[in-house]
Amino acid sequence: MGLVTRFAPSPTGYLHRGHAYSALTAFEAARARSGRFLLRIEDIDATRCRPDYEAAILDDLAWLGLTWEEPVRRQSEHMATYHTALEDLRQRGLVYRCFRTRRELDIGRAPHEHQTPFRGAPLPRLEEEARLARGEPFAWRLSLEAAAEALSGLEPLSFFEAGSGPAGEQGWIRACPDLAGDIVLARKDVGVAYHLAVVVDDALQGVSDVIRGEDLFEAAHVQRLLQALLGLPTPTYRHHRLLTGPDGKRYAKRDKAQSLRDLRASGVTAAALRHDMGL
Ligand code: GLU
Repeated sequence: MGLVTRFAPSPTGYLHRGHAYSALTAFEAARARSGRFLLRIEDIDATRCRPDYEAAILDDLAWLGLTWEEPVRRQSEHMATYHTALEDLRQRGLVYRCFRTRRELDIGRAPHEHQTPFRGAPLPRLEEEARLARGEPFAWRLSLEAAAEALSGLEPLSFFEAGSGPAGEQGWIRACPDLAGDIVLARKDVGVAYHLAVVVDDALQGVSDVIRGEDLFEAAHVQRLLQALLGLPTPTYRHHRLLTGPDGKRYAKRDKAQSLRDLRASGVTAAALRHDMGL
């Protein structure tokens, strides 16, 4: 079977050179192996995603010369599927309610940003009931302790890195999901968290190779654990280096001057951009 890969941007801003590199790398890998290239719009966070950004993403990718299979999978249209997965974990006692305030939670950040590991436990039943009765908001967290029990230890979990992690990690990598702590899988304003939606979608879409920037290498450790708990297949991971700008810093969405649409408006061609990126 040929390689199946995807580009999975979140419509929270305009695409920049770094996104172009990632999308082209995945697209070319699929083409080289007569594989399939999918586009997935990761728009679960309605507080940050905008339809005009999504339209701009499609526009920019077409300008780059990419084609993808239709229909495009939009995560916001599949919330029920992610909730089924969450409910499965909940019924098996693998998640617990966490009432810490938003400020205390490791959420609201992009998946590649550093998160403080948090380990907790369910509240005593009476306290939990009282808080629920008062209508206090809570998040569902994955319990690493319960996960370790369910899998009889986290030791044997591993994934294959066919690219390279930030420290040159390659080959079979032992997953260390404990580095991320008890991750948030759902919260009140955003019904499901990134990691859960990603593993469910990668499996449902038959993704064989996850090709993305090395800033998401840590995410693979957590995603490997979720795959094990949900009985989902583990794709091969191919993390790639991150492009850096003239200042040596990696491109970021807030750096508007580097957006693909600005480059295009200033007369840069897609061919010149590819050449610049060594593709
Ligand atoms: N939606 C994520 C992002 O834009 C990428 C997720 C992934 O490739 O696994 O950073």
